[in-house]
Amino acid sequence: MNKTIKQLTGEIIDFVNKRDWMRLNTVKNLAVSLSIETAEVLEYVQWKNDEEIIDDLKKDSEPFGEELADVAIYLFELAYVANIDLSLAIEKKIVKNGIKYPAEGQLGEKYPRPADQ
Ligand SMILES: [Mg+2]
Repeated sequence: MNKTIKQLTGEIIDFVNKRDWMRLNTVKNLAVSLSIETAEVLEYVQWKNDEEIIDDLKKDSEPFGEELADVAIYLFELAYVANIDLSLAIEKKIVKNGIKYPAEGQLGEKYPRPADQ
């Protein structure tokens, strides 16, 4: 069963509170942590071409999934601490992007397609 962002954020905040970590989790500290975890995603793909990455993911996607989860956990917690409704912010941003980048007339063929996944 997939959980909502709100449900997952509640579980993350409960986890943090039970360990008394919330006092450390300022907006700045969480933004730094989010960036570090994002770098760990890059570390997974560092020195590999697209084909090697796809092969690695087919063999075992769990390590990459864990890094993505780390990013999401910090992102959800950062939004919570900053009092941002992340679901609403995402919905609004998708609408804004749709206006900025209308589907018609996009240059999708200009860029090479990544290897088939
Ligand atoms: Mg990590």
